[in-house]
Amino acid sequence: MNKQKWLLLAAVVAAVVAFFAFDLQRFFSLQYIQGQRGELLALYETRPLWVAGGFFAVYVLVTALSLPGAAIMTLLGGALFGLLVGTVLVSFASAIGATLAFLVSRYLLRDAVQSRFGARLKDIDKGIEREGAFYLFTLRLVPVFPFFVINLLMGLTKMKARTFYWVSQVGMLAGTLVYVNAGTQLAQLESLAGILSPALIGSFVLLGVFPLLAKKIIDVLKARKVYARWNRPARFERNMVVIGAGAAGLVTSYIAAVVKAKVTLIERHKMGGDCLNYGCVPSKALIKTATLVHQMRHSAHYGVASAQWTLDFAQVMQRVARVIADIEPHDSVERYTSLGVEVLLGEARIVDPWRVNVRLADGGERTLSTRSIVIATGAEPFVPPLPGLQQVGCLTSDTLWQLKELPKRLVVLGGGPIGCELAQAFARLGAEVTQVEMLPRIMVREDEEVSAYAKGVLEADGVEVLTEHKALRCESEGGAKFIVLEHQGQTLRVGFDQLLCAVGRVARLKGFGLEELGIPFNKTIQTDEYLRTLYPNILAAGDVAGPYQFTHTASHQAWYAAVNGLFGGFKRFKADYSVIPWTTFIDPEVARVGLNEQEAKEQGIAFEVTRYGIDDLDRAIADSAAHGWVKVLTVPGKDRILGVTIVGVHAGDLLAEYVLAMRHGLGLNKIMGTIHTYPTLSEANKYAAGEWKRNHQPHGLLRWVERFHTWRRG
Ligand SMILES: Cc1cc2nc3c(=O)[nH]c(=O)nc-3n(C[C@H](O)[C@H](O)[C@H](O)COP(=O)(O)OP(=O)(O)OC[C@H]3O[C@@H](n4cnc5c(N)ncnc54)[C@H](O)[C@@H]3O)c2cc1C
Repeated sequence: MNKQKWLLLAAVVAAVVAFFAFDLQRFFSLQYIQGQRGELLALYETRPLWVAGGFFAVYVLVTALSLPGAAIMTLLGGALFGLLVGTVLVSFASAIGATLAFLVSRYLLRDAVQSRFGARLKDIDKGIEREGAFYLFTLRLVPVFPFFVINLLMGLTKMKARTFYWVSQVGMLAGTLVYVNAGTQLAQLESLAGILSPALIGSFVLLGVFPLLAKKIIDVLKARKVYARWNRPARFERNMVVIGAGAAGLVTSYIAAVVKAKVTLIERHKMGGDCLNYGCVPSKALIKTATLVHQMRHSAHYGVASAQWTLDFAQVMQRVARVIADIEPHDSVERYTSLGVEVLLGEARIVDPWRVNVRLADGGERTLSTRSIVIATGAEPFVPPLPGLQQVGCLTSDTLWQLKELPKRLVVLGGGPIGCELAQAFARLGAEVTQVEMLPRIMVREDEEVSAYAKGVLEADGVEVLTEHKALRCESEGGAKFIVLEHQGQTLRVGFDQLLCAVGRVARLKGFGLEELGIPFNKTIQTDEYLRTLYPNILAAGDVAGPYQFTHTASHQAWYAAVNGLFGGFKRFKADYSVIPWTTFIDPEVARVGLNEQEAKEQGIAFEVTRYGIDDLDRAIADSAAHGWVKVLTVPGKDRILGVTIVGVHAGDLLAEYVLAMRHGLGLNKIMGTIHTYPTLSEANKYAAGEWKRNHQPHGLLRWVERFHTWRRG
């Protein structure tokens, strides 16, 4: 906290302490104001503006400092100024005072709360942004909810002060009227409790519940309205139709079948989707060969001085195809049929909220009626509109696997995970690789030190990494192909035999009915937190829904899509993105879960960093893999894990222990208290926890223990 904040806090605390220490409360009791009423009325007759102004100022002060007294002041307002003027004065004074309390709370506490609970506050802030005004209004309508608590708590959220002010003023009007009106009969009042009779409280509660009920009804009507123009079938042939048999669609349909729903899965191209056919599987199979080649090149290091080998690229690609073929049965029509899923091969199109048309691959068409639909159509490589690109041609992850010859010179456009993995793999296989990235560093989502390390690793494998280079156009000259780049105002040409575009993937959104049904989308389909689209019975999961583009997030979402699609009318579950891991499979791997340093700083979340260097790890040394690190971010002074980045051999596998810990709220002490087999790479996790423990030793206690031992020695 800075100096001004401390000063303000001291002033507020001093004012509150003084209020109670000098027993100023007695001026805010019913008896006291009843006793003073006559004198105050006389004063009001002679100096109306002074009295009204003074009343207003005291009211604002009392509420701004969250002192007890607002109810009495409101009664006094009625007693002195009557119903109309009293209501106007109290209404403005209470709204201004409440807003001041809200601002004080925000100024003093918001940063501290944000840095401590930032990640958990995110959802609350999102909710406040969407519906905060509405809920504040209902809280304000019922005057039994403590006024000052609402002010202080709302100050900790991201609600705009302007919104807070007007919603408070309008919401409190009914309660203000009741109290000011009671104040006009001040002489007859015997206690504050008398004002809010059970019947009146009941009415207020009804008043408060009314907007909630109204909202529910409006939601139902709105939902009906979206469906109004469509002709609902009288009965449904199926419970669920799933479009797309990638990770998201496969898992959705599997879960639906497990819970005995009648489910149909439609795939227009290849079962298994992009992960199996063009993504994770072939890329990891290629990386395996590249790693082997790398090891053979460095075999002398292991005492194998003359490893003889020749690379047969066609054979390498055949192995990649074999790996796909070996995994294919896991995602096959036969397997899913045996699991109870009806699989149709063909192109799906949603014709209305309950009907999906399929143009079957083996001819013919069918229209299926269904209660719910899950869109899992995935994403495809983005090819930038570079002038000349079409003419020279480019590879993408869709076409790369058809290569028969290793390109002599390969340009990889894009410094994201896919670009980095493939650039390194092709360089290791023997291609001259130039990687082009527009931003100042590769793998920008990771911390700067990770980007720098990854760049160094790629360069050591022979990749020329060009950061801050913008691709302008492609050219061909006498059969030779070039890409023209711009770097710090200069242009340069890089020649290539093949160009691989790895600049991102875009959701598949066109051609299957989204526009016709008016389902909103931007870069991905717009869904709510239950993965429901505009039509609550049409849901989306996987790359087409975002926000992540991983196989494991697609299958994670699939559970929510299946359950919410089938049972959403009774119980819904919000998709939980609190612990999302991922790995970039360069060598050494880069694996992450939760926050890294740059994100924690951006989000204003306080953290401590603990680091363990894998160069110290026995197994890594034995394997000649002694490089990389485990970096753990924790809540200051606590062992609660905020995020972990591991750079090292098998980092993706090592990360699993931290993912489990974060998912189930286990701290570093628990990891330290767990036996890890010796000698394994997994010990790195334990040593990182040990590092944290060392940094948090109870030094005071240990000094006493030392004295104890000295004493015992005599
Ligand atoms: C080179 C590369 C490497 C990758 N490596 C990894 C990795 O290591 N780890 C990781 O987690 N992720 C990785 N990914 C990402 C991963 O492949 C995707 O996140 C994952 O495939 C998304 O699954 P999905 O089910 O959402 O979509 P997809 O797998 O794309 O499946 C969608 C399916 O829907 C079908 N479809 C589309 N429209 C229709 C229609 N109208 N009718 C019928 N069917 C339709 C498509 O044919 C497709 O089969 C990688 C991706 C690439 C390109």
